[in-house]
Amino acid sequence: MPHRVTLIPGDGIGPELSTATRRVLEATGVEFDWDVREAGADVMAKHGGNPLPDSVIESIAHTGVAIKGPITTPVGTGFRSVNVALRKALDLFAQVRPCKSYEGVRSRYRDVDLVIVRENTEDLYAGIEFEEGTDNCAVLRDTIQKLSGAHIREDAGISIKPISIEGTRRVVTFALDYARREGRRKVTVVHKANIMKHTDGLWLRVAREVAEGYPDIEFEDRIVDNMCMQLVQKPELYDVMVLPNLYGDIVSDLCAGLVGGLGVAPGANYGREAALFEPTHGSAPKYAGLNKANPTAMMLSGVLMLRHLGERDAADRMEGAIAAVIAEGKDVTYDLKPKADDPTAVGTSQFADAVIAQLQK
Ligand code: NAD
Repeated sequence: MPHRVTLIPGDGIGPELSTATRRVLEATGVEFDWDVREAGADVMAKHGGNPLPDSVIESIAHTGVAIKGPITTPVGTGFRSVNVALRKALDLFAQVRPCKSYEGVRSRYRDVDLVIVRENTEDLYAGIEFEEGTDNCAVLRDTIQKLSGAHIREDAGISIKPISIEGTRRVVTFALDYARREGRRKVTVVHKANIMKHTDGLWLRVAREVAEGYPDIEFEDRIVDNMCMQLVQKPELYDVMVLPNLYGDIVSDLCAGLVGGLGVAPGANYGREAALFEPTHGSAPKYAGLNKANPTAMMLSGVLMLRHLGERDAADRMEGAIAAVIAEGKDVTYDLKPKADDPTAVGTSQFADAVIAQLQK
């Protein structure tokens, strides 16, 4: 039976990366039945100003698996981001970002192999904000001052940081299950519990409780500022990390920097009913339609999808083929060449051709 998968090409460089990735996925021999769905700034006019038509969410709810190109966040509309809206609509509570060194990708570090698990729905990132100078902000400020005795300046904006027991429990459980399934040795929970006792403190307490059920996985905690310093100094000490939303957002880009940048960093978002795979970089509008962008991050997102679908052999072969093309350094995009203006750089589709040729060797 072919795997029924929702494919969202996205906009900007998204469609080129999606075509390249789809060709390579199909070249593994795994069969797919694609349900191609449009979303993003380019299709807003067609869908009454909505960059995320309901049909996209319905398709993913039905197939349970989606792969998506990057999508431009339209400026000046009510939409914060299609990506955030998708994660909310499907309750994709765990974001996974593996950061792994590949030979041939320029970086200051070698042999990095880290996995970030980021809580995706709560924290300061939940978008609960009050603009300075508004009546609601004044009411909230007065209430907080009365309840806590803390002084808040009149010209302050306020953002709210909710972190719940159940929200923590499900993502930490996910991280520990992931570590066990992928044969990882250790999970580090990251926090600032020394300062934010009722949010990060709760997060740490619940994480420790959950970890007691996993005696086979080493478990430890780190304060987020110390974590950043240690990742830069000795990333080899770490393995899987689980973080609240905002720290996860920041530390995952730090880790992408350790392995050569966002162009090679894949991502996945998991919920109980659905999983969505996507590169972590944006839609790079200046390269749209030029057959120039690097498809590695989206292809590696495809590798994560194959693993999720239980196609482990195909996933290993596809990852190996991508790694071999990058290591050889010949048929790679401009950003993987020693100099960005290298005339031997190939385009997105030729990179895919090289990966397919490697798969067929
Ligand atoms: P970006 O990631 O699109 O670009 C940052 C830089 O990296 C640019 O110089 C770009 O040309 C380069 N770049 C990115 N991907 C590349 C690739 N595959 N190959 C070669 N070069 C690449 O970030 P941005 O410019 O801040 O954002 C552009 C748009 O993308 C915004 O609307 C943003 O909201 C959106 N965005 C979407 C997602 C997503 O869909 N998940 C993620 C981040 C940003």
